[in-house]
Amino acid sequence: MALIKSHSFSKKCELCETSFQFTPKYIDGTPERLRLHEAAPGVMYYGFDQWLPYLLRLVFCAVLWLFALPLATAHFYYVWLHHPSTFTSRWKYDPAVGDGILSAIITSVIIISFLRLTNFADFFFLRQHWARQRQIQKRHGEKNKTL
Ligand SMILES: [Zn+2]
Repeated sequence: MALIKSHSFSKKCELCETSFQFTPKYIDGTPERLRLHEAAPGVMYYGFDQWLPYLLRLVFCAVLWLFALPLATAHFYYVWLHHPSTFTSRWKYDPAVGDGILSAIITSVIIISFLRLTNFADFFFLRQHWARQRQIQKRHGEKNKTL
């Protein structure tokens, strides 16, 4: 893989080390500069083709993580704590604002506790790894003393 990476953008021949450079070749009669009305469709096509999917994905992620998921979390929280009938009673504007704040708090607590948990698991496995390495070093030290 490193070999492919090092050669894929190389500007030298792999056999004789001769430097080369690619230059674009256009049809005869191509103007030096394009006017705005000639360049705009190409730029727009490139924008729709390249940036629109990225932008839509960004909007979808923002709506999902900042609106839909926290609100769903808050609603499930209320249903779980109170009664299933509270689910429909919360679809009003005033509770929605409070739900938004509450859901942001709940979501951040869940994310932070999950990160803490994974951090603790990493620490636990690292401690085990260090203990194993210390045992191995001890054994090697005892072998060297006996020799
Ligand atoms: Zn060559």
